[in-house]
Amino acid sequence: MNDFTNLSKRTIKFRNDRDWAQFNNPKDSAISLILEVSEFLEHFQWKNSDEITEHLKNNKKDVSDELSDILYWVLLIANDLDINLEKSLSRKMSENEKKYPISKSKGKHAKYTEL
Ligand SMILES: [Mg+2]
Repeated sequence: MNDFTNLSKRTIKFRNDRDWAQFNNPKDSAISLILEVSEFLEHFQWKNSDEITEHLKNNKKDVSDELSDILYWVLLIANDLDINLEKSLSRKMSENEKKYPISKSKGKHAKYTEL
């Protein structure tokens, strides 16, 4: 098993060992995901660019904890919806590579429809 699969299995085991799957319907799991995204966003709220740089430097563990909380819910939701995230991300990246060819998109932030 690769690192991604091991991480996913560990996350699911953590949840299932505590009998919390009963609370994880798609709606509430999606809400939990967005709440964690909101906690991540709090690290940026009301800060200018310099303040964000300083904050991220001084709060790296807290920020990484929030990103991990986001990934926790992404992994659980993918499991519960029978989505193979590794395959899905690989397919999505192939699509993105076609939408955003380097020759047209390098150094630009335009949406693919505007390239
Ligand atoms: Mg959190």
